[in-house]
Amino acid sequence: MSTELGSKLAAPDMAGAWLREQILAHLTTPKTWEHDRNAYVSASTVYRCQRALKYSQTRDAAEWAGNGFTVRGDTMEEWLCKVFARIEREFRVIQQQDIWFTAIGDRQETLRDEALRISATPDGFMRLGDTGEVVYLEIKSIDPRVVLNDPKPAHVAQCQFGMELCHRLDHSKPQRALLIYVDASDYADITIFEIPRDPVVARELLRRAQLTHAARTYRDLPAEGLAAGGAECSDCALRDECTAERAATIGALDPDKPAMAADLLDELDDLARDRVTAAITEAEAKRSKEALGDRIRNILEEHGTSVAQTPGYKIRYSVTKGRESFDREAAEADGLDLSPYLRRGNGFPRLTVTENKD
Ligand code: SF4
Repeated sequence: MSTELGSKLAAPDMAGAWLREQILAHLTTPKTWEHDRNAYVSASTVYRCQRALKYSQTRDAAEWAGNGFTVRGDTMEEWLCKVFARIEREFRVIQQQDIWFTAIGDRQETLRDEALRISATPDGFMRLGDTGEVVYLEIKSIDPRVVLNDPKPAHVAQCQFGMELCHRLDHSKPQRALLIYVDASDYADITIFEIPRDPVVARELLRRAQLTHAARTYRDLPAEGLAAGGAECSDCALRDECTAERAATIGALDPDKPAMAADLLDELDDLARDRVTAAITEAEAKRSKEALGDRIRNILEEHGTSVAQTPGYKIRYSVTKGRESFDREAAEADGLDLSPYLRRGNGFPRLTVTENKD
């Protein structure tokens, strides 16, 4: 056996850096699927930006080995399945109630409609023997910083699409789903939303899936991520392309076009008023956030501490590293010609709404 590695890792800080790199390299085992995932629109992707989805289908899905978030979700699901087993034992064996869980954990099944090329992998089903009801289960681990007043639209869509597929395949007839959110930092912090089956919503999702399949290339599909505010675009490979396309579309609009119809102007007026009101509320919330932050910092400073653990929060007051910056003026004053290195980024859409003063 070689002794090279031990010698290499003997140097200060090497062992930790090496182990971190190895953990990241072995984070997940690449999942193997019985079907070609690129050929299907699944419950978990049907609500994605259609263009991004089509683009992702052109890559080799077999290479997808997940990431840290996938591991977090898988680990939590594994734990929850053990909890389901304990619930089942308590109610079925001890209390003699007819309730059991199926297709959970490593017994999950992928349901596929070959004609429509759609699929879903439910996280399980809760079966109630006395009524014969089958409840669809969808499990999500959620970042503790997320405020969860309502279920996430993408997760609701996932439940609706999955239930629809169950009905189409005559697999079971769930009329409702339980969407289970487990706080990733505290597994006892659980929020469950009941999602009643809605065939109208399901039909619309099926239509989306068919549009995705029908498109020849991703360019034929709308850039929905940008239209929805761009949150989905931040780590998308098509970001530059979509932003440039949007800028070109805006550039081609005619500012001198004849006035719009009165009803359209009324609608725009209402939207502009609501937007201005929202901007005021946003500014007030920002001011309030800053004032509360000042008060927290003052208390910590008066108390001479940088950390506080309250019943609900951990508060830490620290100094982050300053950002590196580039002093262009100084470089040019030193005679450096930077012009060969200058690049102009894509323009980005900007909407301004100001109130008429007269
Ligand atoms: S950049 Fe945004 S809009 Fe474009 S494909 Fe990606 S997610 Fe969709």
